[in-house]
Parts: sequence; structure tokens; C-alpha cells
Amino acid sequence: MCAQPVRHVLGLSGGKDSSALAIYMRDKVPDMEYFFTDTGAELPETYEFLDRLEGFLGKKIARLSSERDFDHMLMVKDNFLPSPNTRWCTRELKIEPFERWIGDDPAISYIGIRADEPRDGYKGKPNIQPVFPFKEAGLGIADIQRILAESGLGIPDYYKWRSRSGCYFCFFQRKSEWVGLAKHHPDLFERAKAYEKKATDGASAYTWSQGETLDQLIARATEIEAESEKRALRSKKMTWQEILAQAAEDEEDESCLICSL
Ligand code: SF4
Repeated sequence: MCAQPVRHVLGLSGGKDSSALAIYMRDKVPDMEYFFTDTGAELPETYEFLDRLEGFLGKKIARLSSERDFDHMLMVKDNFLPSPNTRWCTRELKIEPFERWIGDDPAISYIGIRADEPRDGYKGKPNIQPVFPFKEAGLGIADIQRILAESGLGIPDYYKWRSRSGCYFCFFQRKSEWVGLAKHHPDLFERAKAYEKKATDGASAYTWSQGETLDQLIARATEIEAESEKRALRSKKMTWQEILAQAAEDEEDESCLICSL
């Protein structure tokens, strides 16, 4: 009896590390399957970068989505916004579509965690074996910069104002990044505000950003930008390599593992 073939899969978040890993692995594993779990709430810059990456890889990136979208899930959760302590969004919108796509197939999942990062990767179903090529090869942020530069792809545009990929309303983003969202995507900022209003009008006291509503946050935009002087300099003077190095420094908080790969 033939053993079931092992699938090789690589998840893209639209961020620098997973993109660099896809480029790094392109000629090493010819039958690699690339995927992106689309929450339906990603930034336009992410979709644009994935299209470019697809061109570079010469392969389609499978777009996976949940059977139930964010709006449906929010309704089921009685308008309780997800938060760092109750990250139902990660399970419902990222992990569940990925695990459904793999099913019971044996699979090796290539994960773009760098050698200079302390975090672990997704550990889920026993048929999915995670591997960490950057860690194994001792590659850090400077190597990620080099891989992206040599490919000619550069980085997604959102890195000018935000340090990681993910949903436009991601609660892991800093207050200065919310100000960036309001500037770069006022429509998405308004949508995030609408979700928040529904939540705070109902049973939930959660706001997207700790300690204040988005209205209160944006009223302090000048103060927040002044506090975040480093990030304010990004779009003006820095090269994209410098932006990337700073984004890596900004990763000290624990974001969603499968979302930020
Ligand atoms: S990016 Fe943020 S909001 Fe989106 S699923 Fe991940 S943790 Fe949740």
C-alpha cells in the first residue's frame, strides 16, 4: 500500500517574514503550496503585495476563508470584540480555514519565524508538522531584508505606518498605528469605529484600543504622533530597509502567531 503523499504548505500573511520565506523556498521545494487565510478584513496593501508575490512565485496563492465571516462571528459572540485575552478571531478566521484546507492530509508547514525571534509557531493538529527554515539556517532580519531586496519585491506599503500585517482593526496595533489607519484608510477606520460602537452600546465594555474608544484616541492624534516620534519619521526619511529593521524592533509584543507569520 502506498503511503499518503506529504503536502508542503507555506502560509503567507502579507508580512515581510512569510514573504521572504516564500521567496527563499521557491526553488527548494518545487511542489510547495502557498496559502493566505483571508479574514475579509485585510489591508488593501496586503492584497496588492500578495498579487505581486504571486507573480514572483509563478504560482497561485490559495486564498482560504472561514465559512462564517467576521460579521457573522461578531453577531454570534453578542458583539464582543476580540481582544488579546479572547482571540476568537484567530481560531475562527485563521486557524479553522487552514486546518479545514489541510484536512487529514499529512503536511509539512513552513513557518517564517526568524532565528533572532523568541516566539514559537503554530502547533496544531498532529498531521501538520511545523518546520522553521530561517531558524534552522540561522537567518535574521538582515537576511530577510537581503532576500526581499534581491527579489526586487521590497515590502508592502503599510510598513510606512504599521509594523505588521493582519486585519485593519487588529487590536494588537499600537495607538499610533490606529492614527495611521485613520490617515491612510479613513473608510476602514470608520468601519472599525462602527464595530466598536455596536460593542460598547451592547453588553461589551471592550474597545479596540486599551483604555479609550477610537473617537477618544483620534482626538489625541497629535499627542500620540508626538509620542511616537520614531514611527512618524518613517515615511519621510527612511529607506524601506530601515523601516523593516524598525518594524522588527517593534515586534516585542506577542501578536497572533498564525496571523503574523
Ligand atoms: S490579525 Fe489581529 S484581529 Fe485579525 S485575526 Fe489576527 S489577531 Fe485577530
